[in-house]
Amino acid sequence: MNTALPPLLAGKKGLIMGVANDFSLAWYIAQAASQAGAELAFTYALPQLERRVQPLAESLGSSMIYPCDVQNDEQMAEVFSKLEQAWGKLDFVVHAIAFANKDELKGGITATTRGGFDLAMQVSCYSFIHTAKLAKPLMAEGGSLLTLTYEGSQKVVPNYNVMGVAKAGLEAATRYLAAELGETGIRVNALSAGPVNTLAARGISDFPAMLKHHAATAPLKRLVEAEEVGKAAVYLLSGLASGVTGEVHNVDTGAHALGPTPF
Ligand code: NAP
Repeated sequence: MNTALPPLLAGKKGLIMGVANDFSLAWYIAQAASQAGAELAFTYALPQLERRVQPLAESLGSSMIYPCDVQNDEQMAEVFSKLEQAWGKLDFVVHAIAFANKDELKGGITATTRGGFDLAMQVSCYSFIHTAKLAKPLMAEGGSLLTLTYEGSQKVVPNYNVMGVAKAGLEAATRYLAAELGETGIRVNALSAGPVNTLAARGISDFPAMLKHHAATAPLKRLVEAEEVGKAAVYLLSGLASGVTGEVHNVDTGAHALGPTPF
């Protein structure tokens, strides 16, 4: 991190879901949250990723690393039960998880299969609702839930296809969760990041062209940096955003503001 962050999350305990490697947006959010004083736990999806996530978590002083495929209800329940045993409460969750079949992230959306649609929606959208349900009992004193989305939910982005539909669902789920959980002091927001070169993003056909177009046309005339996603996430997770819920917050060097024919 090149900018020192104030201790906005001092004393807070948070779960980070979605670190695959040191390019992951979840990893940049974890580093920023740690720098802001949070104590963190991590989940990883595939058994072979434990060896990648473990040293990253340990570098932030965390030994709480749990397997969690979000399609596996038992693993999901186990994670929150372990958090309850260890901490007795939870202040925030970062949900940075998405998946769609690679061959459905190219060409047109009519190639989407029923199974591919279900998979994308389950992993990329339903999992946030299920996470919120499991987190709620641990957030009796309030809390903050944050998911990651992309502009392809609102506008057509070439090759994004079924993931755009899943992200639209995720953003709607964010609003419904915010409405339901607000009375318990739990805030629910989505951070819409500009394109960043990660494992998941490389699954989108022609992703380098997306990066090039974004850097050339976005108001700030550059790509967003993953550190900027981390810093904005700390704002949304912290008391600085105490009045913010049900929001989709764009961290995309301004690209969302443009019409279809940028000048
Ligand atoms: P990433 O590093 O590949 O992270 C995606 C994560 O999703 C991985 O940790 C992956 O775990 C996890 N995942 C996939 N299927 C899962 C499952 N069934 N159970 C649990 N975890 C599962 O890529 P990323 O770009 O940082 O993505 C994080 C989030 O940011 C995603 O929601 C993505 O849509 C969003 N986002 C990314 C961009 C971008 O340009 N990179 C822009 C806007 C929004 P495994 O690797 O173990 O499968």
